[in-house]
Amino acid sequence: MIEVKNLTKVYNSKHTKPCVALDDISFTLPNHGLVFILGKSGSGKSTLLNLLGGLDNITSGEIIADGNKIHELTEKEFDKYRSSYLGFIFQDYHLFDRLNVNKNIEIGMDIADKKDKYRIPLILEKVGLEGKGKKYPDQLSGGERQRVAVARALAKNPNLILADEPTGNLDVNTSTQILNLLKEISSEKLVVIVSHNISDADKYADQIIELQEGKIIRNDVRVPSYNNSFSIEKKTVYLPHTTNLTDEEVALLTDAFKNNNVKNIVQKDNGFQKNKVQPFEENTITLQNSSITFKNLQKLVSMFLKKRKSTRIITILMSTLLFALIFMLQTFLIYDSRLNDITPYDDNIVLSKGDVAAEGDAIYHAALHRVTDEDIEAFKHTGYDSNIYKIYSYAPNPSNSSSFYQYMTNDFYRNIDEFFIKSCAGTLICDESYLINRYGKDGKLTYLYQDQNPKDYGIIITDYVAHSIRFFNPTSYLTEDSVLGKHKLGNQYFYINAVIDTDYEEKYKDLTNIGNLENYSPQQLIELYDNPLYQSFIEDTTKYLGITYSFNENFAADLAKSKINSSVRVTNIVKLNNTLTDVSFSHAGSLKDDTINLSKSTYESIFKSTNYEEYDKFTLQIKDPVSSKIVYSKEVKINKVSSNQISTNLLIELTEVMTYSFGLYFDDISNSKEIVKVGKDLGYYVRNIDFDGSLFINKLTHTFDSFFRLIFIVLIVVLIGYIIVYGINNVRGSRYEIGIYKSLGGKFIDLGKVFILDILITGILICIACTIFTPIITIIANDVLVTSFQNVMDIHIIYTDILVVYKSIIATNLGIINFAILLSFFIPMLFLIKVKPIEIIRQNK
Ligand code: ADP
Ligand code: MG
Repeated sequence: MIEVKNLTKVYNSKHTKPCVALDDISFTLPNHGLVFILGKSGSGKSTLLNLLGGLDNITSGEIIADGNKIHELTEKEFDKYRSSYLGFIFQDYHLFDRLNVNKNIEIGMDIADKKDKYRIPLILEKVGLEGKGKKYPDQLSGGERQRVAVARALAKNPNLILADEPTGNLDVNTSTQILNLLKEISSEKLVVIVSHNISDADKYADQIIELQEGKIIRNDVRVPSYNNSFSIEKKTVYLPHTTNLTDEEVALLTDAFKNNNVKNIVQKDNGFQKNKVQPFEENTITLQNSSITFKNLQKLVSMFLKKRKSTRIITILMSTLLFALIFMLQTFLIYDSRLNDITPYDDNIVLSKGDVAAEGDAIYHAALHRVTDEDIEAFKHTGYDSNIYKIYSYAPNPSNSSSFYQYMTNDFYRNIDEFFIKSCAGTLICDESYLINRYGKDGKLTYLYQDQNPKDYGIIITDYVAHSIRFFNPTSYLTEDSVLGKHKLGNQYFYINAVIDTDYEEKYKDLTNIGNLENYSPQQLIELYDNPLYQSFIEDTTKYLGITYSFNENFAADLAKSKINSSVRVTNIVKLNNTLTDVSFSHAGSLKDDTINLSKSTYESIFKSTNYEEYDKFTLQIKDPVSSKIVYSKEVKINKVSSNQISTNLLIELTEVMTYSFGLYFDDISNSKEIVKVGKDLGYYVRNIDFDGSLFINKLTHTFDSFFRLIFIVLIVVLIGYIIVYGINNVRGSRYEIGIYKSLGGKFIDLGKVFILDILITGILICIACTIFTPIITIIANDVLVTSFQNVMDIHIIYTDILVVYKSIIATNLGIINFAILLSFFIPMLFLIKVKPIEIIRQNK
């Protein structure tokens, strides 16, 4: 039972003065029956129905439906009211065009949480749509569509059915069918029909409420025993009210006249009497809560969002493009030449084999590995047919303090002290023409000093190395030529055959007073590192000035034979379980061939045993940790356990093995790109630090830093905005469906789920596309950049990755996208909250 008390509805519009659509009306409606609301156009019928249906706000007054105070309901309770208590039938049907008949009805059930699908055929039969369940609304006639709307309302099994001019768009026959249907339904439920057809009301209504200018001018109920049929009783003919007689009835009437059986003719009235205010029955129906199933949620998603397929694809593509641009800008913003291996514009490519490790901003070379013959073959396959020179891991330490490895495997900068090099970076086996090319004058090498008695295992040093030796050992080398001959530098002996002139002092005269770098502040260090002359100096000392030379192809073997070093440090001896260990051995001439003494700790480390009697021989194996190749293998006899000592033949063999090449010099750079590429695959890195090209890019990025930053921020905003606009448009584009869904009682939260599901799918697709396409776009952009730098700016870049893919950037960017997705979900949700179903339905009329 519904009670309406002093109901008023005022429309406030900006442009016109307030319109009072309903003016303080009161009435009651029964539990079941067919109620007609009549009135001229504009009299307030639809307004009343919308208020009864909870589609619009009440200005003042009360509506109490089976104990539920409609005027006091919250938005959430309104959803419940609409979903479980009532069914709405519109003049324009308002079906979901993208769903077939069955699904339209199913959504009605779903909204009311009446999930018994088997009822659908029964309902279809009831409304006369048997077998049409699979049809889509646009395949149906108007009458059939309205039947679907009725079926959808029935599916919810509501207490109240509201129908706003349900036959307004239908022809007379179809109208009659729909009205009969509603009449039938009204035997169990309360059906309220808005109409301006008085004869329909006369024929079908149990109660008529007529409105005029927002006031009730008539509220009649049908007399309980009233029937409007034709009859002849006791010579009285009863004619029905406003209904034509059937042929049969006309025949009966004619007979009656013929037989003189008619005394009175009574025209029946419409059978209505004034509705006396009825005692209000307290009857409470609890509003049901409902929740949509996941399956139907998906159905809704596809219904709401099907039409946006192309928008979604464009959004994904645009986001990916923006993402890639943002990524590139970020790379430029964090670009630091010191992080990039780019060879200088000079006449050599120098590759070293080993691991490069990064620690914060610094890059260092974590380990050196052996060059193999296969590597050199691989380089020759690139088409390179000029000279390849090997650089060997044997070089003096002018500073005497540390081993060659420590500086080689650490930051090159730390290898310079007050302008001089602490440790030389290997011995290059080349020919004289190589040095003439680099340091010759008039096609000749200038030897500053030469030993009278040169050795085949002796080395040639640069004047810079000679000065470094004298700088660190001022008392031992009093004269310039005192560096010649045999010397111990670090923990190894060297024989220096000659010192060559390189003219380095002239070239770097502005740097000779750099002083001790330990005393530099970070800012001073940065300035120094950015100084092109210093960069060139570091480059030079690392690759040319700071190494030693030999023209002897058999350098390693001759060095070993010379026994100039009476000890050898052997790295990567294979222990048990294939693990590796480093051991230093000294030479004991008294030991027989292939005989060895081990210290206790070496013995324990190799055999994992403290029983020193257990083993008296083993296979001494040395392994290259990268290629896993055994580079030396020999069965040796253990003489005794005391200290690590080896026989003469082992000293010679092991010295040769440990004097290995870890890098290559290529003196023809025409094929440099290919060589660097192959080198990278083989575990080589370009041995340099900075150079013009990277310096240029550095400068470029610093110059445009704030500009890049600005574009970066703009792009981020655009990206976030783009995704948000997508989300908003998604909601706006589905306003009509949202309106219908809400008018059926669909819950706000379920709509939210629909849109979050969509934005999630889109978001995931964007993330996937970005992760896949960003590197691809970056590679293309990188190639374009490299080519244009090389061609237009005449800058030589060998290493091609100006833009480096940093995982962390990608992660940050995906974070930004997720944030945008989150926003693009919440903002449309705010729109959704505001949307009143009636507004949309009105807009669509
Ligand atoms: P009916 O359905 O009987 O034709 P309505 O209930 O639609 O009448 O309208 C009643 C009155 O309220 C009319 O004067 C109409 O112009 C006015 N009205 C209806 N809807 C609005 C609205 N959204 N804003 C302003 N005035 C409205
Ligand atoms: Mg109307």
